Amino acid sequence: MSMRAASECRGGNACGILRFYGKETAMLRIGCHLSSSKGYLAMGKEAVKIGANTFQFFTRNPRGGKAKELDISDIEAYLEFAQENGIARILAHAPYTLNACAKDPDLRQFAYDTMCDDLRRLQYIPEAMYNFHPGSHVKQGVEQGIFYICDLLNRIHAQSGQTTVLLETMAGKGTELGRNFEELSMIIDRVEDKSRLGVCLDTCHVFDGGYDIVHSLDKVLEEFDQTIGLHRLKAVHLNDSKHGLDSHKDRHEKIGEGQIGLETFVKIVTHPKLRELPFYLETPNDLAGYQREIALLREKAEGERI
Ligand code: FE
Ligand code: FE
Ligand code: ZN
Repeated sequence: MSMRAASECRGGNACGILRFYGKETAMLRIGCHLSSSKGYLAMGKEAVKIGANTFQFFTRNPRGGKAKELDISDIEAYLEFAQENGIARILAHAPYTLNACAKDPDLRQFAYDTMCDDLRRLQYIPEAMYNFHPGSHVKQGVEQGIFYICDLLNRIHAQSGQTTVLLETMAGKGTELGRNFEELSMIIDRVEDKSRLGVCLDTCHVFDGGYDIVHSLDKVLEEFDQTIGLHRLKAVHLNDSKHGLDSHKDRHEKIGEGQIGLETFVKIVTHPKLRELPFYLETPNDLAGYQREIALLREKAEGERI
């Protein structure tokens, strides 16, 4: 065990087993969003090909719709491949068109049915987490929106297995909920089983939402810790932003080509309170572009992580 790595690992979250393995501690857990159209094993192989050791995927067509039939033999082959190749902590993403706090009860029911079905299917991938956008209250007001989201989460928890569900931090476009740490904390407060609930921090979204991670990353993390608790932070979406601080626009940009800038991303992936978390790129890229961003972040970061 590397004493230095262990003594440095004082982040409140996810510092479990990894810290006991010097080599793994130095290794960034990073991947990108991949297409799930060819199944799990295909995603695993694609991840390895581009230097990733985790990945994110949509559970079904991102606009909703029916999921493909579960292919158990593909899942078994994937799980073996993942173990052999050190892939772990993959993140499933719910369709982004779901609105858990829609005014129309049919739309809320659709969000509930889809999420329940996703979580039932994810029980076959025990280590996966499930990320979703809390929703947009569309003139109903924050209170009513949060009521619906918590009601849905409580009913889902009663129905589903052990998968950890993550609320994503949102940019605050329109009437999006989760636009600040307070709103996420209000949701978490009212969910009965908090043991299966976490947060995924999207760098573009928090920056667009007014959190200055470029100049005051430590202050933002401090605020997160005081409002939500850093132990709830389970994953990070790494996206640069086309628009400036507090713009509420949500337009992702390639790493280093937006308003956040490469230096901040290096700070994020090496930060003692963040570096053990899994990082997922959702930048506007093809696979070759993702491969370059992963290589760049590894090169910049891994020297500083040991
Ligand atoms: Fe998202
Ligand atoms: Fe995101
Ligand atoms: Zn976004």
